[in-house]
Amino acid sequence: MNYPLSAETLTLTAHAPQDAYSVALKNFDIAAESLNLSPDMRSQIMYPERVLTVNVPVRMDSGKIVRFEGYRVQHNTSRGPAKGGIRFHPDVSLNEVKALAMWMTWKTAIVNVPFGGGKGGVICNPKELSQTELERLARRYTAGILPLLGPARDIPAPDVYTNPQIMAWMMDTYSMMKADGYPVPGVVTGKPLATGGSVGRNEATGRGVFHCIESACEHLHVPVKGSKTVVQGFGNAGSVVASLLDSHQSLVIAVNDSRGGVYRPDGLDIPKLMMHKERTGSVVGFPGADPIAQEEMLALECDILIPAALENAITGENAHRVRTRIVAEAANGPVTPEADGILAANGVFLIPDVLCNAGGVTVSYFEWCQNEQHFYWDIHEVENRLERVMQRSFAEVLGIHTDRKVSMRLAANILGISRVAESTAVRGLFP
Ligand code: NAD
Repeated sequence: MNYPLSAETLTLTAHAPQDAYSVALKNFDIAAESLNLSPDMRSQIMYPERVLTVNVPVRMDSGKIVRFEGYRVQHNTSRGPAKGGIRFHPDVSLNEVKALAMWMTWKTAIVNVPFGGGKGGVICNPKELSQTELERLARRYTAGILPLLGPARDIPAPDVYTNPQIMAWMMDTYSMMKADGYPVPGVVTGKPLATGGSVGRNEATGRGVFHCIESACEHLHVPVKGSKTVVQGFGNAGSVVASLLDSHQSLVIAVNDSRGGVYRPDGLDIPKLMMHKERTGSVVGFPGADPIAQEEMLALECDILIPAALENAITGENAHRVRTRIVAEAANGPVTPEADGILAANGVFLIPDVLCNAGGVTVSYFEWCQNEQHFYWDIHEVENRLERVMQRSFAEVLGIHTDRKVSMRLAANILGISRVAESTAVRGLFP
């Protein structure tokens, strides 16, 4: 079932903001209006609690020193320590980090884990750095944001172009500087298993997306088996959900990454494609598939379209051409408000980012619990718990969507924001 977006959303469409932070603020306003939140409460939970900009000087292998700029934003900690990934990307900006931190606040509340929202980033291109330069960058950035970090304060995780190795360096730097070298594994999640990581964390975001898609398919009576899937962004989140859909007999007909895309109408061989990407660094050139440009790929007829790269993939410009039943936002902020309106008008069922990709933070929470308890779970326990959290959260959002006749995005924001407002009110954090 699809409902038209609220009047407030539709008024956005004339001058749709593309800046992620404006989008986050606008979507907050719409949900706050719908919840009838007081102006005091709105201003209390809308803005970030702490914003830190750090200078990150790094000695390059050449001997030259290059200055990078990094950020860590704690949006809200009323329900628990700030939680959110670290992005290393040339397009990182403070506004992007503020938006991503805000979305983390609603996301942790939607899946009801006892965390707040945070995010970090460094403006850099890791593809142009050697491993030793990357390590120095990660360690210096960690030293810069050290005053904010801690297992009970702020817990980073991987995001775009950061990985478990970078988390291990961050954990080591924190442990050396704050705990006399004794390991503090709970200060970051998404670590390698050898430093207290959790089984199942690496796959958790994609697996959570998959559970949301399964629930959406059940709701819409679209069988997963035999469905057609398109994935934009074949990284951690995108490749895992592609592989799970493939193993449930959905035909993954096209995928792409930052270098280009591949298309095969009868379905790509996903395990082989993953090996090809591992070997060559890209999906481009995969034998037996045709090259495909992004705009053409997003317009392919399919049942499930998964934007799993960056913000603003589906906009007012290209949303008219999207021909799918379901859009599953594995990425954060891939659909602009203008595109939201167009997709809804065309009967597309959208699973919003704050719900769809929350499997990552859910297993990050499991990892943190295991670190704090010094007791580790097996893969079945992690996967079963994740499935239950995702199914429950999807059902709660769907319930609001159908009861209040609002879009899935607004329903998810209503759930997340109301939980944050409730904890803020009971703690008495505002007059
Ligand atoms: P990643 O670095 O593993 O993968 C990103 C992929 O996107 C890469 O394959 C890259 O080549 C591709 N890409 C970059 N620009 C592109 C473009 N313009 N067109 C097509 N492909 C492009 O990152 P990830 O961790 O998979 O994150 C992807 C998205 O999922 C981000 O929005 C991130 O915030 C979100 N997310 C990730 C996690 C997590 O646990 N990793 C959790 C929640 C949300």
